[in-house]
Amino acid sequence: MKKLGVVLFAVIVSLLISPAALCADQPKINFPDILGYKTLKCDLHMHTVFSDGSVWPTVRVDEAQREGLDVIAITDHIEYQPHKKDIPTNHNRPFEIAKDSAKKKGILLVKAAEITRDTPPGHFNALFLADIALLDTKEFFDCLEAANKQQAFVFWNHPGWKPDKKGWFETHTKLYENKWFHGIEVANGTSYYPDAHKWSLEKNLTIMGNSDMHAPSLITKTTPENHRTITLVFAKEKTAEALNEALVKGRTAVWYKDQLIGKEDYLDAIFKASVKVGDIERKGKRRVIIELRNNCDLNIRLQSLGETGPAELILPATDTTTIKIKLPKEAEHIELLYTAENMLIAPKKGLPVKITATLE
Ligand code: ZN
Repeated sequence: MKKLGVVLFAVIVSLLISPAALCADQPKINFPDILGYKTLKCDLHMHTVFSDGSVWPTVRVDEAQREGLDVIAITDHIEYQPHKKDIPTNHNRPFEIAKDSAKKKGILLVKAAEITRDTPPGHFNALFLADIALLDTKEFFDCLEAANKQQAFVFWNHPGWKPDKKGWFETHTKLYENKWFHGIEVANGTSYYPDAHKWSLEKNLTIMGNSDMHAPSLITKTTPENHRTITLVFAKEKTAEALNEALVKGRTAVWYKDQLIGKEDYLDAIFKASVKVGDIERKGKRRVIIELRNNCDLNIRLQSLGETGPAELILPATDTTTIKIKLPKEAEHIELLYTAENMLIAPKKGLPVKITATLE
């Protein structure tokens, strides 16, 4: 009886600790929730064998879970299907095949497709579609109209993809004036497009960045040095409706290589929620040792704008760093003025930041 009690106790304990243990093993991408919104890690552009990708739709869900993503959209080309002889045309199938697996794994799967025309106009992704087959039209404008009739969120993909044909053309103006596209990729895979970044700000288009992966993802664990290009979406909750609302309102930032790209308000909120002042040790009247903690997955590179603190400083991702500073005079407050060089609020323009602390 006593033995049974011990066994039962062990079973109960293991039941109690296993969810926690599972949680600890869950892959995570570290960017804080900001301004009352949840920060969703999204890749809204990728392919499967249903167009020119080389994986089955459920594999995209497995990869997303392994890399700690919250949301994905499978965006197979409507007009380009090189595997057509083996895989029949059925634009709605990739979503249908992957949706149960996504639900089980807690990944929000968005029904979507890529509208694929020669440049200009180029390629566009349409998200939150009800029936993708209705977008299979001869004329480009009919296709965009069909997408917008389904209240799709539409964005322009890789605008600098064809260097000889890059630019904002008449077609784009027409689409823009009709309000038929709403966002633009400033980064796609390993490319960044300064022109697209500039247009996103000038024309108030939602800033997007995605992997556009065709091959299987070889990333086993997301790290600051090795991750796919993703869009951080600041949404009220993790639902398709909330995601759509946030995208329409332009509440996004892009994590691309070792940079964050986004509007100043959002990058500023991420910086403030990520970087915290820790212990402060006074060493004499004007010398201070100060601990800075960075809770996010970006190695933040700082360049000094002021008199106090080192000229250059790196705040390593999810780590603490200690700096020695000399105060200008016998100050009560420490104020460090920097530019976060790899938090881009415009092409070649870093985010101005201020780190403050009060001495005891
Ligand atoms: Zn694509």
